[in-house]
Amino acid sequence: MTLNNEKIELITDCTIDRKDGNIEFAEMKNSRFCAVVSECDFSGSEFHRTNLSGDYFESSDMSGAYFEEVNLSGAGFERSNISGAAFTDVNLRGAAFEGCDLSGVEITDCKLDGMTVNGYDSSELIEFYKNNHKDNGNMKKNARKAIIAGNWKMNKTRPEAKALLEELKPLVADVKSVEIVACVPFTNLETALSVTAGTNIKIGAENCHFEKSGAFTGEISADMLAEMGVEYVVLGHSERRQYFNETDETVNKRTKAALAAGLKPIVCVGELLWERECNITEEVIARQIKLDFFAISADDVKKCVIAYEPVWAIGTGKTATAEQAEEVCAFIRAQLAKLYSEDVAEAVTIQYGGSMNAKNAEELVSKTNVDGGLIGGASLKAEDFTVIIKAAENG
Ligand code: PEP
Repeated sequence: MTLNNEKIELITDCTIDRKDGNIEFAEMKNSRFCAVVSECDFSGSEFHRTNLSGDYFESSDMSGAYFEEVNLSGAGFERSNISGAAFTDVNLRGAAFEGCDLSGVEITDCKLDGMTVNGYDSSELIEFYKNNHKDNGNMKKNARKAIIAGNWKMNKTRPEAKALLEELKPLVADVKSVEIVACVPFTNLETALSVTAGTNIKIGAENCHFEKSGAFTGEISADMLAEMGVEYVVLGHSERRQYFNETDETVNKRTKAALAAGLKPIVCVGELLWERECNITEEVIARQIKLDFFAISADDVKKCVIAYEPVWAIGTGKTATAEQAEEVCAFIRAQLAKLYSEDVAEAVTIQYGGSMNAKNAEELVSKTNVDGGLIGGASLKAEDFTVIIKAAENG
């Protein structure tokens, strides 16, 4: 059914037959729809650029309908099922909803002034919506445990490692809701494992090779780490990519090897400064996620942590703004949803890393899609690292 430039005065008791699966109101550009609609079924229908201003919908089913660039100013909705409908760029000024099911409705970029729901005006509703929306995001966030991981890089001798962890232990002993990890140089692993035994601090390595064993002088295998009791391993850190020719292919192989050994990989992704300046951050990240997790199952990807580390922010003192961090972490989650499923995307811990410190951590980790951080410089000072961990407890 296609309606073009029609003026329809009354639709009543109707069921729109969608057996061809295709009532596309896109054709109704610049059309005037109808004056009164009663007991009609528009569930799942799409309304694009349609003028429905002043129209009245009563006892109708509009569940899951999609409204885009529609004029609904002054429209009235009574006792209708609008659950799960999405309104994008819709003019809802002065529209009134009475006794409708509005559960799960999504409202994006709409004009809402003067709109009422059961007599409540839009300013109250906007507040309610914002809080509700945040709650939804936060509920999902709360289901994931934040992970604050220190990346010590090439720092600390064994006595220094011992002293740092001894200082950290009592400061974070009461922390339960955040997973605390110290990723340390290979030479410090044994010391770190024995100093933290029986505490809430987990130990990680900073890399591993993808082969199980063999003629790879200077390398360490995932099995060697797992056998020691190491739980985490940082993979694809930008310093490894930059100085040691790591590629997405080797990161993918290392991730598979780490998972096979029972380690939890912290896989780092992030764009270079010029890539951000060229506006290709999303392309770069999408490519890295696709390649780094190539042929890794949904169950395995859930065991991984992803660290979004914009390369320009690592060790430079330049932090991404909390909004930039949230934007890319949310984008990573959306990529996981595309490649795997919504459930997988919501289960994976996504950290931000890049000059996170005691001052900026609170704002960064408060973001809905930022589940903690990978911290370089600030993890070398027990007090600063503790402040970041405590910020994540509240985040
Ligand atoms: C890192 O090494 O992963 C890192 C984020 O470093 P820094 O916090 O020093 O920028």
